[in-house]
Amino acid sequence: MPDEPAAGSSRVADPECLFCRIVAGEIPAARVHEDETVIAIRDIAPRAPTHVLFLPREHIVSAAELTAADGPMLGQLFGAAAAFARAEGLTDAGYRIVTNVGRWGGQTVDHLHLHLLGGRSMTWPPG
Ligand code: AMP
Ligand code: ZN
Repeated sequence: MPDEPAAGSSRVADPECLFCRIVAGEIPAARVHEDETVIAIRDIAPRAPTHVLFLPREHIVSAAELTAADGPMLGQLFGAAAAFARAEGLTDAGYRIVTNVGRWGGQTVDHLHLHLLGGRSMTWPPG
């Protein structure tokens, strides 16, 4: 199994990427968490009472680009989401973490992010 990003993919900050611009502080966002690897922002169009996006500072287009070498980053990303959910009191009732990939997956911003959705009951399967 290849352990390298697909040919043509780039992890260099993209000046056209909305989330790279948010990471850089060029576009304001409501930050609820930041560490050396990850930032979390409130979604501008929330789909649940709690809707927060967890994104790596590094520009990674989507989950389709991930390899085993991303394990530490993914641990930080999911760990930050779990800690936030716990702090917000969402853990007992439960919540959803989802990442959309590509057009049919519903991805609109091409910079990897986890959606943390909580505060209401979720339906399955998603639309
Ligand atoms: P996705 O469609 O999975 O790529 O998710 C992108 C998310 O980014 C959507 O839920 C948008 O509402 C959200 N979004 C777009 N622009 C901003 C912004 N400036 N600040 C915060 N969230 C945003
Ligand atoms: Zn980006």
